[in-house]
Amino acid sequence: MAEILEIPETVEISTCSLSSGSSGNSVYIGCGDTNILIDAGRSAKAMVELLAEINLKITDINAIFITHEHIDHVSALKVLISRHKIPVYMVWESFDNLGGDYKSALGEVINFISPKDSVKIGSLQINCYATPHDSKASVGYIIKHIGEKTRKAVGVATDIGHMTKEIIEAMCGCKVIYIESNHDPEMLKNSSYPAQVKQRIKSKVGHLSNKECAEILPYLIKNGARKIILYHLSGENNTKDLAVKEARKTILDARLNVGTVYLGVAPKSSPSKMIILNINTESEKKILNPLNPNAEKKILLTNKPKVKPKYQDIPEINIL
Ligand SMILES: [Zn+2]
Ligand SMILES: [Zn+2]
Repeated sequence: MAEILEIPETVEISTCSLSSGSSGNSVYIGCGDTNILIDAGRSAKAMVELLAEINLKITDINAIFITHEHIDHVSALKVLISRHKIPVYMVWESFDNLGGDYKSALGEVINFISPKDSVKIGSLQINCYATPHDSKASVGYIIKHIGEKTRKAVGVATDIGHMTKEIIEAMCGCKVIYIESNHDPEMLKNSSYPAQVKQRIKSKVGHLSNKECAEILPYLIKNGARKIILYHLSGENNTKDLAVKEARKTILDARLNVGTVYLGVAPKSSPSKMIILNINTESEKKILNPLNPNAEKKILLTNKPKVKPKYQDIPEINIL
């Protein structure tokens, strides 16, 4: 008798960076009719134009989640929200530290969120976690499909002074990660920035260097990350090549047995390549034997990854 497998239901989660770096940050995540942004750090006009590049209108956005109140993460909010009443999620301390004009624009749409909170927006579930940064409050977000019990899809970790247990735990298991790779320490040392600013960037509540970012990548890859987007690169104290070189070397040196890993850098002011994740909403299918419906149900695992690593020792790194 032929074996009958039910095709598991799948959904697509799509994601890209819209803008990255000190001029403004924003990450897009979508699933079906649900579209969200993590940060809206460009001007309202620029955000509308960036969304148009991925064929979306601002009115398609169901919610905006803010990591912290620094201007490169909230810039669009005042004008955007006064025109379009999009729900905004933010930690209270971040909201409290915004200017009065921002607060009045956000009055109608603001929702307060705290680390460890979980919010459902349409078909997406968004989990919040704490990050160390010199704003009043700072958080990162993990996004998954609401029907998917355990598997995390996308993780965003930006503006982090140092790596913490909370960040690692949150990012562990995410398929796609946006992670800050802010500066090359040597370039920062020799830059024209005032000593105080250099100190701030290097501090435990400043920004993550290329090396600090790279160090954690093998662990995250070992725990499921397959598409890594280096995010929030400094325009003054970093280059795309340096960030990729450091990450690539550290991943290869770890000699992981994981197959292909994609590594990319979020462009400064244009959308990155759209990443599509196929998520199985059911982990197993029970199929009755049609000849004997009373027989014990057979459980067939239909979504086991069948991809064999190309190399036994080192991952293949493709550039996104
Ligand atoms: Zn910041
Ligand atoms: Zn920032």
